[in-house]
Amino acid sequence: MKACSSYREKLLLFLDGEVEASEELLFHLETCHCCQGYADDHRRLSELLKRTRSLWRAPESLREKVSHIQRGLPADLNRRDS
Ligand SMILES: [Zn+2]
Repeated sequence: MKACSSYREKLLLFLDGEVEASEELLFHLETCHCCQGYADDHRRLSELLKRTRSLWRAPESLREKVSHIQRGLPADLNRRDS
């Protein structure tokens, strides 16, 4: 059996829907707990990223506001020792 690391790149592409999985890759995935865990982690991360991204996309006006506020802030905001 080949080392897991030699499958990881293809595995990621497959999980992202970029490529079809080869029989070799599928067989490895079925039999390797290490790569199964890796695939699960990746799926969970992708889900999380998708959710985070859609959260960020929604409040476009808020992002505008925030960046305006940031630009308007005085440079010495953190030095409030008086
Ligand atoms: Zn593996």
